[in-house]
Order: sequence, then C-alpha cells, then structure tokens
Amino acid sequence: MGCMVKRVTKDKYVYQFNSEATPVLQVEPGELVLLETQDALGGQIVDENSSLAAIDWNAVNPATGPVYINGAAPGDTLKVIIHEITVAPQGAVMALNGSGFFGTRIEGSHFKLARIGKTHAQVGDISYPLNIMIGVMGVAPAGAPSNTGTPGSHGGNMDNRKIQAGTTLYLPVYHPGALFAVGDLHAVMADGEVSVTGIEVAGEITLSFELLKGVTLANPIGEDATHLYFIASGATLDEAAALALNDAAAFLQERLNFTLQDAAMLLSLCGNLEVCQIVDPLLTMRVAVAKEQLQQAGFKGV
Ligand code: CA
Ligand code: CA
Repeated sequence: MGCMVKRVTKDKYVYQFNSEATPVLQVEPGELVLLETQDALGGQIVDENSSLAAIDWNAVNPATGPVYINGAAPGDTLKVIIHEITVAPQGAVMALNGSGFFGTRIEGSHFKLARIGKTHAQVGDISYPLNIMIGVMGVAPAGAPSNTGTPGSHGGNMDNRKIQAGTTLYLPVYHPGALFAVGDLHAVMADGEVSVTGIEVAGEITLSFELLKGVTLANPIGEDATHLYFIASGATLDEAAALALNDAAAFLQERLNFTLQDAAMLLSLCGNLEVCQIVDPLLTMRVAVAKEQLQQAGFKGV
C-alpha cells in the first residue's frame, strides 16, 4: 500500500456516531486510510484470568474515528472501499447473562479465548474457518446521536458478515464530511450472531472513500464481486425485512426501470433474504441480489 497511507491509531475512538464529534482526521476522496481498531470490549479480555464482571458495559464497541471526508455533503452517498483487514492473533467469544438469544437462560457471563491463525481460529478443541468482517461502520446519523452498539440507516452496529475485505459499503451522508467511524472486527461470526458476539478481535482496516454526488440512499448498500446487499434495521426482523425489500425494489424501479411486478419476480428468484443479526437494539437483515442477473437488466453500478 506504499508510504502514503494515513493512519488513525486505536486510541482515537468514539462511542457515538454524532454530528458534533470532532474529526480525528480529514481526507480527500481516493486517499488510503488505515484505521487501527480495538476489539469490542476495548481490550479488557487479556487472558483466561480476565474477568467479565469487571467490564464497564457502557464502554463497549469503540469505533475508530470520526474521519471527515472532504467534499461529502448531505444528500450524497459515501462509498467506502474496504481494501484489507488484518486481525490480532488472539480474540474472544462470549455468552452473557442478559444478552443474546440465550441470555435469559445463561447464568453468569462467560468467555473463551480464540487463537487466530492464517485460515482458521481455534476455540478450545474446535477450529473455525476465518470470516473476517466488520461489525460497526457508519456515519453521523440524521437525527440524535446513535451509540455505536445500535444499527440504523447511518450504518452502525449492523454485524453483517458480508462487510469484509473486498466489499464496498455505500452509506447515506447526513452531515458535512460524513464523520465516518469503524470498529468491532470479528474473526468469525455466523448469521444471527445469536450469542451477541463473534470472535471479537482488534485489528487494522485499510480503506478509501469516494463520493457519489447527488445519489441519495435511504439505507446502506453493500457490494462485492457477486452481490448487492440492501441492508436495513428495525425493531423486528419483519420490519427490517420489509425495509430492505422495499429498498431493493425501489432500486430496481428507479435505477433500472423495473415495474413493481417485475422487481417482485426478480427478487423472488435471485434476492436472498438473509439475517445479519438478531441481538442488537435493532435487528438487521439484508437482501442479497445476484449481480449476474442485475447486469443482464442493465446494472452498471450503484
Ligand atoms: Ca457488533
Ligand atoms: Ca462484536
């Protein structure tokens, strides 16, 4: 990546996406930025003797930033190109009383350390293939500040397993400079994130930004080599699914001249409705639409 990468160290973090926050870095579109990120517990689990009882649960999900992107204005779309992610050699997975799907039945709070290798993470006797992904990524929201544990139209804690190196995330811009922040890397996580954590791990994320002037999104869109992901969060999975499906249909209608019935048929054939997570303050789903079919309909880019 050369010597021109701008680095943001992991001590420069926020617990809120907030239009009033002071930027820690200002960049031009196209510049490479490396953001160091703490794990979601701020590095408080060090070894087997670490105690979850001592953790301040108001001080979780630190997101590195905010970064001010020159030229970003309300109504634009911020294109975040994720070039590379590296993670620390050790992480942790948890099961917590009061959190996650099983939280009402789990007594006490528990964690296991994970040893992270080149291709797999080892947790106890079991080895899991790596699926390195970003849990928290977003911009300052339109209304009140949003804590970094909550997902929404501004991005935030989406815990979407498809947001990884090689993925581009498109976010609505609500304030000058966008005020982007990122954190909460997972070395491994399954759709649902049922126990409220993946393998939480510190790391480094190299990305760059572009601006789509005059392109206004309602909610985040992801893109990788094979799919577009319409991502939405709601109080229930039904609500999140409806938002994501309506966004996908609107995209087909407004950008590719589909009728609603044609959009419905395409989505019924190649738009997988998938769960991101069911454990955060709002729940997140994505509609994964195959680009191969979109391209046959004239799709050339978001
Ligand atoms: Ca998360
Ligand atoms: Ca996490």
